[in-house]
Parts: sequence; structure tokens; C-alpha cells
Amino acid sequence: MGSISDNVKYILDSVAEAAVKAGRKPEDIAVVAASKMNSAERVREAIAAGIKICGENRVQEMEEKLKEGAYSGAELHFIGHLQRNKVKNVTGKCALIQSVDSGELMGLISKRASGLGIVQDVLIEVNVGDEDSKSGVQVFRAEELAAKAADFPGLRVKGLMCIPPFDADAKKTQNYFQTMYNLFIDIKAKKYDNVSMNILSMGMSGDFRQAIAEGADMVRVGTGIFGMRQYHK
Ligand SMILES: *Cc1c(COP(=O)(O)O)cnc(C)c1O
Repeated sequence: MGSISDNVKYILDSVAEAAVKAGRKPEDIAVVAASKMNSAERVREAIAAGIKICGENRVQEMEEKLKEGAYSGAELHFIGHLQRNKVKNVTGKCALIQSVDSGELMGLISKRASGLGIVQDVLIEVNVGDEDSKSGVQVFRAEELAAKAADFPGLRVKGLMCIPPFDADAKKTQNYFQTMYNLFIDIKAKKYDNVSMNILSMGMSGDFRQAIAEGADMVRVGTGIFGMRQYHK
């Protein structure tokens, strides 16, 4: 791996290339730098190199880095599993909460946002591989959850997010991405209140090209930008 700045350039170029190949415009694909376990300094380096959105997984880590000014100049998204008791820590702090998977969570976010006098943008996370170990609403329940957004004026559902099974081969991964795209299009066509469906967040370091080919307009890249995460730290 090169420097963070070289990696960012490489990823942005690769995303642009994949976009063009899919008949889309490079600027229509948003790149989220998944910055978990990387210091504020490293995050700032990525932003200086052209990253416009950062995604964090853990609330405490995000709060520490926020204090250090890690994200200045970029938009902040929450992409990890969100516990009910942490809703107050992310609502209004993040431009987009990508990991909403229950009506209960929607209600809590909406209530908090209304208290702050804002409308919180969220994505519905779909457990596309139906894995016990993963968060996310089941595929066949996603539409029902989207329809529920009408009850919660403090939030707005902007689209869908998924993390397919890590061990899937290319063909299976493609199927998961196609399932997500079809779901995205179906829900969009229903025109539910509070649901706009213009962001399909899928694809990570290993499969973002494929995700873009299947209709992703937001990819989340960690390792490809920051290198391997040091889990022992
Ligand atoms: C870590 C993470 C990513 C990025 O994963 P890489 O394989 O390192 O690119 C994307 N999305 C979520 C939700 C993550 O937690």
C-alpha cells in the first residue's frame, strides 16, 4: 500500500473508471472513507487528499475524533450498528445515519431530531445475506420498514445500505447487489411519505467496482484508503 494520499487518489480514480464503465458520471458516485480505528491525523490526511465523506462505526471513537477536529472539511456519516441508548449521540451530529434497521430506532431518531428542530437523514440497512451475525432488516421486511417512515416526521429515509456476506464469491456478491438494486427501485416506485430513495450505499474495498456496476451510488472504502486495520491496538 502507498501513502493515504496515494491510496485516496487511486480509489477515486478507480471509482470514476467504474462509473464511466457503468455508463454513469464519476461525480454521481459518492465515496465514504470508512475510518474506524484510524486516528484523527490519518482521517485529516484522507480529507486533504480529496475525501469528502467520512463514515464511523463506533460512537465513542467518533466522539473522540470529533473533539480532535478529525472530520473538518468533510461530511460525517454513521455506518456502524446503532444502539438505542446511543441515538442521542449521533442524531444531529451526522449528516446521514446509514444503519437504521427497525421501527423502534426510527422512532427514537425522529424524536431526538424533532427535539433538536432538525430532520435527520437515514438509510435503511438491509441484511441482504440474511446472516445471524449482522444487523439490518431482512430483505422481505425492508419495504414495510420504509413505509413506516411516514410515522416519523423527524427523519427522512434517503435510501438503502448493505454489507453482503464476506465469504461470498463474485457471483453471489453480484446477486446480493442485484437484490439490493431491485429492492431500491421497488421502494422508490412506491413513493412512500418521508422516503426519497436516492442513495444506494453498497460496495467496500474488495467489491466497490462490482457494486457500482450493479447500481451503487455510494461506496464505503476503509482498507483501500487506510491500509489494513490494526486490531491489536
Ligand atoms: C469497515 C467498513 C467498511 C469498509 O470496509 P473495507 O473492506 O475496509 O473497505 C464499509 N462499511 C462498513 C459498514 C464498515 O464497517
